[in-house]
Amino acid sequence: MTTERSGGDQGEARLPGPLREHLSSPGTRAALRVRQGVLAAVREFLAARDFVELQAPIIGPVTDPGVRGAKQVDIDYYGQRFKLMSSAILYKQASLLTFDRIFCVAPNVRLEPPETASTGRHLVEFHQIDVEVAEASREDAMELAQALVVHVIGTVMRTVAGDLETLGRDTGAFTELLEQPFDRITHAEAIAELAAMGHAQSRDSEITWSGERVLSHKASRPFFVVDYPKGSRGFYDRESRTRSGVLRNFDLIAPEGYGELSSGSEREFEYATLVTRMRETGENPAKYTWYLDLAREGIRPSAGFGLGLERLTRYITGLSHVWQTTAYPKLAGVISP
Ligand code: AMP
Ligand code: MG
Repeated sequence: MTTERSGGDQGEARLPGPLREHLSSPGTRAALRVRQGVLAAVREFLAARDFVELQAPIIGPVTDPGVRGAKQVDIDYYGQRFKLMSSAILYKQASLLTFDRIFCVAPNVRLEPPETASTGRHLVEFHQIDVEVAEASREDAMELAQALVVHVIGTVMRTVAGDLETLGRDTGAFTELLEQPFDRITHAEAIAELAAMGHAQSRDSEITWSGERVLSHKASRPFFVVDYPKGSRGFYDRESRTRSGVLRNFDLIAPEGYGELSSGSEREFEYATLVTRMRETGENPAKYTWYLDLAREGIRPSAGFGLGLERLTRYITGLSHVWQTTAYPKLAGVISP
């Protein structure tokens, strides 16, 4: 691996070289130490705020269906079809029956489409720093996500300064971020902004990757996009009770072309609404028995987010591809150990 960088939007298919070369390169060593520094700072920040770290399950009867374009992985579990977790969302909500504030560093597997191998932002196996808080609002979750990212960046600039230097990261890029709150725009405003720049996007769906890249490039510090339309996300993002069709959710987008770092929301927790939303999103409620059984008796209102560990590490290191932050990268369509 080299330490080549290009501000997060190269689009060229840069695949890992021979494993020995990757594992023993100074660039990999530096990136993995930054990643370790990121995790240490995350744990320090959340432990100081009374979060309990749990280990999310790796397999289960169902997993997060809201993973645009990616396929889930089935496994044979004693004759039953189980899934590898594409996200820990269902377990995060359930775990608030045990503690008020939880987090996990959760492994996720998503069979992303082959064309994502060259986006610089997609892995098949990755980790989310998954945070969930009982009785919290979307705004609480956004403030927490912002404070967490600011803490992590401020900390790693001290603790792994030498490694950031090895990777050639200009840490001046973080000055504004450490001093000012992140901007917030609505999904509708983002679509209007893109339209004004000649990037037509549907108002009823996700912002496309190319659209997101344009917005990310224009920004000089991370920013939030809020209020995604109902059709664009999973059944667990809570719909506004006053604005029909608008979800109480957010994405946190990194600047410089690095794109989405995190998605979060206030969660749906009412049994009947969950069942309706599952049907609306094409999910069969019968598959979600364990989760709906809990919801019928009552799960707690909450809000939270998932922050991609490799995405955050890539943004901080300034590397051109997210795989460079992992020892054993799995890229869509690429057979590798
Ligand atoms: P999502 O549930 O798709 O919003 O994913 C939550 C977070 O996980 C995203 O904001 C990213 O930081 C990260 N993430 C999602 N998909 C991938 C992927 N294929 N490779 C690396 N990170 C990902
Ligand atoms: Mg997302």
